[in-house]
Amino acid sequence: MRLQTNTDIYVFAALVTAGACSVVAVVIMLLYPRDEWAWELTLSLTLTTTITMTITTHIAKKMRMINALSDELQRLLARDRLTDVATRDYFYDLLETSPEAFGVSLMVDIDHFKRVNDTHGHLAGDAVIQRVARVLQKRVGDADIVCRFGGEEFVIFLRDRTVAEAQEMAENLRQAIAQDAVCFEGLVIAVTVSIGGSLRARCADIDEMIKQADAALYRAKALGRDRVAFHGERDADVPSMKAAS
Ligand code: GH3
Ligand code: MG
Ligand code: MG
Repeated sequence: MRLQTNTDIYVFAALVTAGACSVVAVVIMLLYPRDEWAWELTLSLTLTTTITMTITTHIAKKMRMINALSDELQRLLARDRLTDVATRDYFYDLLETSPEAFGVSLMVDIDHFKRVNDTHGHLAGDAVIQRVARVLQKRVGDADIVCRFGGEEFVIFLRDRTVAEAQEMAENLRQAIAQDAVCFEGLVIAVTVSIGGSLRARCADIDEMIKQADAALYRAKALGRDRVAFHGERDADVPSMKAAS
């Protein structure tokens, strides 16, 4: 039972009290002669109502507090605090509990991010991470998952997407981020990302998918950053930033 408002608490307490009073009334009627019922019922029902209402209201308030704490805990486990996208644990949980899910995973890494921290400070760095997360989240579909995988790295799972569809999406994401400089306390900070992609067949291992996307990301970085590379693609097929935009 989920107790969320004061009304829920009082309804719950009233129901339990009504149940307790009914039991007490039956017991009184079974144990006492009819001419004593009035007095015995008045006394015992008054006592039962007072005691049960007090105790049940107290317990219900504690239950509401536990519900609220449990919701908050769930939220903390599922959503990254800085960016409000999914956490890594939540991402793994979702994919492990839906082994049938197939699609493409994209590993997105902000280019030369350490320079942002070193030049403008960590708060500016945080603002950049938040902005990138917002752009990614806004542009993927409702069924897709955006997850903050580590510091300035995100993993996106594009559900039910072919490699060709995912390549187009990855390219859109890359361009959207490159065209959307981050404004922080009067500074304008240009940001680019590199993206590595890999296909996940049904029931395929999640770690293997991540490993392949990571290797593709590494190639995108090695080829000059600000570009998209896919697992299994030849280097010559990786579009450069200029060719793609
Ligand atoms: P590359 O283009 O090769 O990815 O280089 P990079 O500088 O982006 O990568 P590198 O791994 O050298 O640096 C990542 C930095 O991200 C180092 C770390 O201090 C910083 N970082 C990690 N988490 C956070 C965070 O939550 N906030 C901020 N501001 N910085 C973070
Ligand atoms: Mg990184
Ligand atoms: Mg980086």
